[in-house]
Amino acid sequence: MKLIDGKKVANQIKEEITLEVERVKLDGGKIPHLAAIIVGHDGASETYVGHKEKACIQVGFDSTVLRFEDDIEEDTLLRKVDELNKNPEIDGFIVQLPLPDHISEQKIIEAIDPKKDVDGFHPINLGRMVIGLPAYISATPAGIMELIKRYKIETSGKDVVVIGRSNIVGKPMSILLGQKADPGNATVTMAHSRTKNLKELVSKADMVIAALGQAEFLTADMVKEGATVIDVGITRVKSDQTKSGWKLLGDVKYDEVAEKTEYITPVPGGVGPMTIVSLLQNTLKASKGEIYPKF
Ligand code: NAD
Repeated sequence: MKLIDGKKVANQIKEEITLEVERVKLDGGKIPHLAAIIVGHDGASETYVGHKEKACIQVGFDSTVLRFEDDIEEDTLLRKVDELNKNPEIDGFIVQLPLPDHISEQKIIEAIDPKKDVDGFHPINLGRMVIGLPAYISATPAGIMELIKRYKIETSGKDVVVIGRSNIVGKPMSILLGQKADPGNATVTMAHSRTKNLKELVSKADMVIAALGQAEFLTADMVKEGATVIDVGITRVKSDQTKSGWKLLGDVKYDEVAEKTEYITPVPGGVGPMTIVSLLQNTLKASKGEIYPKF
């Protein structure tokens, strides 16, 4: 079994980005600037935005967080999105989800200029990704592709099962692995809550991407000997073994599954750290005009 160390790879990439930002500074160029909109006081959202802000500072990016109370009206939020769209200082921005019920997430996502949509949630970016055009790819699938690339894990001709079909993880992941690309060229099955023969499908797969959000769902009896297992799930459960009283569990029963795999990601320290780094990479691309030419 070989561990896919997402924390280590994420730190390497952060160092690469830091060097690039230092070069830009020396040349008198523009420092990449990421902004985030956060609405309300959801604990998990605060934590995620805090991590993103910290990561920006680590690599030398400029970072702005716009905070709004959860009674903000949809029209006002749309105006704030438009201001960020038009602000030449901001290279890319994200709107932290979930949003309060009275605000349409889809409307807000579609109001973001695709050129600044570094989360890759806008239909234009998703559509461009599907047909293989340059696009911002949502952070978690992009991070997983980077891990597969850096660990040189062969995907061509392999059977992959992605468990989960969310717009931000399962669906883009399935498309990316099936693309005519490297990594890619896999035969992908996208399983979901209505899939009937999941155990049978998974037991034949060379690679399993578990993104369903059910703690320790994937057990050793389901997995083929020598498979690669990527665990996206994060579930917070109570624990008397930690100071905080909580611990994070993945979708994979790690201890028993790890023994059967060729490669596996741990939780924490696998996919999670890559997600934030992908957002930084997308912001860097935005500031360089790599996906869409600068206007
Ligand atoms: P989601 O709830 O939007 O989607 C879950 C998907 O799993 C659905 O498509 C559903 O059909 C499928 N599913 C549910 N139960 C199933 C079952 N028994 N069998 C087969 N399929 C089943 O979730 P999401 O936003 O894609 O996130 C999935 C998990 O990944 C969550 O635990 C989330 O916290 C985690 N996540 C982690 C990161 C990270 O950075 N590591 C990023 C995003 C999401």
